[in-house]
Amino acid sequence: LTAEEQAVLDEIEEQNVDFLRLQFTDILGVVKNVSVPAHQAEKAFTEGIYFDGSSIEGFVRIQESDMRLVPDPDTFAVLPWRSDGSGDSGAARLICDIVDTDGEPFAGGPRQVLKSVLEEAEEMGYSVSIGPEPEFFLFEKDEDGNATTIPHDNGGYFDLAPKDLASDVRKEIIFTLEKMGFEIEASHHEVAEGQHEINFKYDDALSTADNIATFRAVVRAVAEQHDLHATFMPKPIADINGSGMHSHISLFDEDGNNAFADDSDEFNLSETAYEFMGGILNHAPAFTAVTNPTVNSYKRLVPGYEAPIYVAWSDTNRSALVRVPDAAGVSARFEVRSPDPSCNPYLGMASLIAAGLDGIKTGADPGDPVREDIYEFDDAKREEYGIETLPPNLGAAVEELETDEVLQEALGPHTSEKFAEAKSQEFSEYLTQVSQWEEDRYLETF
Ligand code: GLU
Ligand code: MG
Ligand code: MG
Repeated sequence: LTAEEQAVLDEIEEQNVDFLRLQFTDILGVVKNVSVPAHQAEKAFTEGIYFDGSSIEGFVRIQESDMRLVPDPDTFAVLPWRSDGSGDSGAARLICDIVDTDGEPFAGGPRQVLKSVLEEAEEMGYSVSIGPEPEFFLFEKDEDGNATTIPHDNGGYFDLAPKDLASDVRKEIIFTLEKMGFEIEASHHEVAEGQHEINFKYDDALSTADNIATFRAVVRAVAEQHDLHATFMPKPIADINGSGMHSHISLFDEDGNNAFADDSDEFNLSETAYEFMGGILNHAPAFTAVTNPTVNSYKRLVPGYEAPIYVAWSDTNRSALVRVPDAAGVSARFEVRSPDPSCNPYLGMASLIAAGLDGIKTGADPGDPVREDIYEFDDAKREEYGIETLPPNLGAAVEELETDEVLQEALGPHTSEKFAEAKSQEFSEYLTQVSQWEEDRYLETF
């Protein structure tokens, strides 16, 4: 065992952990768990724990189904909602890498996909930091315990108690996250009723992706304890703001300096930052399938609700895909505004980073910032400014992804194929549905 692995065994002993939840995500970003008694920890580290990969969305065929989970000791965390001192047996989780039958890292595991992209960044001399801003809704449940879309409160942006009834729930979410090692930067009520945002400190991209997966689980579990339903569905209610997951990106060089910082620039950004941003803009239509992977994602990406549709950057307005906040030096960064919290965090981050690194390799140019509200532009003006739009729906996004070689390579043949297959099928299924809107509009008219 390594020193880190041994430290985990000591923690298990000290904190009376009886069960370990070995976690990983499928290609859709759904968190999967295999529970083992805590005394299996040593075996998990040295040999891995076998599981049936053929039953996991997007993994492997039946005949090659024996895969192993190997926990990353860095990710050990006791689950606070199981060990509240009530005498219940404690559980802890470990996030795992997936190893195939030959003992090789499984290239189709989302965490491995991100690791490969990060290795490439490292070869280019960079480590990648990402700070996410996941938004979510808290909804009431009905008498039968099913989720509704009735907001839990009627607060608005940055409202305080008593209107912000949910602030207690939010506080408890934050305490729970802090117990699990999160550093919370800010939390506030969002624009829509029942909508919240909790920002945690930026970290290296792998830890951030792990943190997003954990965050979603914690928010759901705490909401559940309050008899509420938390959802990361991007647009749960028509005609009001949806939920995004803005991602603040910066690169650090080998000396630990922010490679995006240049104080002599108007926006405090370096040439490297602009090239990375250029790559983001160039590949935005293609990575959208990954960062906005549901049919519902595209109902958020419409004009008028602070979500982007136009492939442009700005220092001022929120209708652009990339916004440069007022920050300098170690904090110099930009915010990619399109991703939503339904994405697989590993694949989402991997796609953004691969797009940006390609920008550095090709010396991409993001053009000039757009200062006006692009929502107000007509087609002619958009054409004059050379502003493209994001794909209008999941089907179009998958087509973009399939023709983008940089992203295909970043995801690898296994994941890009399985992902496109699953998403095309999801979209075709959606197209054959008859919605309430159609019924209301046509049933009595024709
Ligand atoms: N909820 C908005 C979105 O869908 C973002 C609001 C904000 O600027 O935080 O992206
Ligand atoms: Mg927000
Ligand atoms: Mg933001």
